[in-house]
Amino acid sequence: MKIGIFGGTFDPIHIAHLRVAEEVREGLGLSEVWFIPAGTPPHKRNAPHLPFKERLKLVELAIEGNPAFRVLDIEGRRQGPSYTVDTLTELRKSHLQYEFYFILGLDAFLEFETWHEYHRLPELAALVVINRGPLGVKSAVNKARQLFPTFEFRRDRLLGPKNQKILFLQVTPLEISSTLIRQSLWAGRSIRYLVPESVRLYIEKHRLYL
Ligand code: ATP
Repeated sequence: MKIGIFGGTFDPIHIAHLRVAEEVREGLGLSEVWFIPAGTPPHKRNAPHLPFKERLKLVELAIEGNPAFRVLDIEGRRQGPSYTVDTLTELRKSHLQYEFYFILGLDAFLEFETWHEYHRLPELAALVVINRGPLGVKSAVNKARQLFPTFEFRRDRLLGPKNQKILFLQVTPLEISSTLIRQSLWAGRSIRYLVPESVRLYIEKHRLYL
C-alpha cells in the first residue's frame, strides 16, 4: 500500500492543506493520506497558538467523511520536539509492508537542511515536494541536487543509490496559510470558505484564536 504522510502544525488546518492531500493522493495513486499534527514543532519561531489537542480536533473535523484521510496523534504522545525523522522511523517499524510518501511544500523544502537528520529522511519515505508560493519547480530541483548531490536527476524526480526518491508535484496553487486564518480571526474578518465549515463552526463556538 502507498501511504501519504502529511505533517504540519495545522494551526489551524485550512482548505489548501486538504487540496494538497487530495491532489497528491490522486496524482500518485496513494491509498490513504495520514495527517500528522506536530506536537512541539521544532521549526516555528513561536510555539503554536493552539494546544495539540485542539489542532488535532480541527484536523479530525476537517477530514471527516473522507475514507482516504486519517489523522494520527503520534507526535502529541511523544515528549520534546517533534522530529519527522523519529515519526517516520516509528511508522516504518510498525508498517513494514507500506510504501510511505512524505508530502511537504516548497517553502518547507527550501529550509530542509535545518530539519533534524534531514539526510536520513529519503531512506524512510519518498519525499514529495509540492509547489507553494511564487518559486517554480526549478528551485525545488536545485535545492534537492544541492542537498543530495549523489542522487541522479531524471526529468521529474531525483533517485538515490538506495532506491530513495524525491518527487516534484504541481498542485493547484492556493495562497492560503494558517497565518492568514489567524490574522483574519484577530481582525474580526470572516474565514468562511477558507476552512471547512465544521472547522469554522468549531473555531467560532469555542472562540479559538481570539
Ligand atoms: P503558517 O501560516 O502558520 O506558517 P501553514 O499554512 O504554512 O502555517 P503548516 O501547518 O505549517 O501550514 O503546513 C504544513 C505543510 O503544508 C507544509 O509542508 C506546508 O508547506 C504545506 N502547505 C501549507 N499551506 C499550503 C499551501 N497553501 N499550498 C501548498 N502547501 C501548503
